[in-house]
Amino acid sequence: MNEFIDFNQSIYPFPTKPAVLDDAEKSFYRQQIKTLLKKHNAVIVAHYYTDPEIQALAEETGGCVADSLEMARFGANHPASTLLVAGVRFMGETAKILSPQKTILMPTLEAECSLDLGCPSDDFRQFCAQHPERTVVVYANTSAAVKAQADWVVTSSIAVELIDHLDSQGKKIIWAPDRHLGNYVQQQTGADILCWQGACIVHDEFKIQSLAKMRMLYPAAALLVHPESPQAIVELADVVGSTSQLIKAAQSLPNQELIVATDKGIFYKMQQVCPEKTLLIAPTAGEGASCRTCAHCPWMAMNGLQAIAQGLQEMGAKHEIHVDLELRQQALRPLMRMLDFSTLLK
Ligand code: SF4
Repeated sequence: MNEFIDFNQSIYPFPTKPAVLDDAEKSFYRQQIKTLLKKHNAVIVAHYYTDPEIQALAEETGGCVADSLEMARFGANHPASTLLVAGVRFMGETAKILSPQKTILMPTLEAECSLDLGCPSDDFRQFCAQHPERTVVVYANTSAAVKAQADWVVTSSIAVELIDHLDSQGKKIIWAPDRHLGNYVQQQTGADILCWQGACIVHDEFKIQSLAKMRMLYPAAALLVHPESPQAIVELADVVGSTSQLIKAAQSLPNQELIVATDKGIFYKMQQVCPEKTLLIAPTAGEGASCRTCAHCPWMAMNGLQAIAQGLQEMGAKHEIHVDLELRQQALRPLMRMLDFSTLLK
């Protein structure tokens, strides 16, 4: 069995890759999805890390392609009664928490996230109980049960600003679950942060020595890095930012070549905003490399055309997200704080 070990030494199965479809099958499923979206008054809410054909279909059918913050906002504000969330499970849960009256479907409920898996709610409760004086800030990449324990939810697009704000109020922080993002935020703000030791299996694979060699091969290229990457990679970056911030940087930077250290699914939107530029994925090979993901999240890859069509056709327990009412009410509070805070920043 393919598996990986997270930083808490838990072992998780690695997802199986979806079947490769030929052109006729792709066309068949695309058409079927369009019909089913209309039938169920549904819209696709897709993440930047899904495959390009899924992002294209979301755009073509009036849905959105976005980061997790904008996905949450779009889903809550859209008039559709059903949201098909093409992403990973915590994104579906967030959609349900914000839009309890809507049906939230996912192509598969087995699309996980190593950050979410690496932060079990019972362990996190014990951790927080040992530090009751600290303000609890959790990244969006957590389960509803972990969000329910938090004072704040945050995404990478507003993490530095939020922690800076809390630090200015003299708050000490518990940060979970991503250790690299927590470290980056701590360095940017100087805040007192106690950090959970989770990591993203995609960003954690970028390799500093191979990247340094690549920069010698492409001396004119700018390096764009997501802060879930290890510190040594972040330190080399020309721009550090969330997915949306990296897409904006790709467009505005004068460089014709861009080396990008995040999931390569982002290339679809980057190439849209700067079609004339050359995009290069940062290396995941080199000393110590396993290339378990090769810069593409295996859970995001589960959102294939066939799975989306199945989700919309079968609906029911294999695809629908439910969140317990009490949990929803507890998780809603820190999520709304995040949305209100991000609105103030605009
Ligand atoms: S890319 Fe990393 S953070 Fe994003 S869903 Fe996959 S495992 Fe989680």
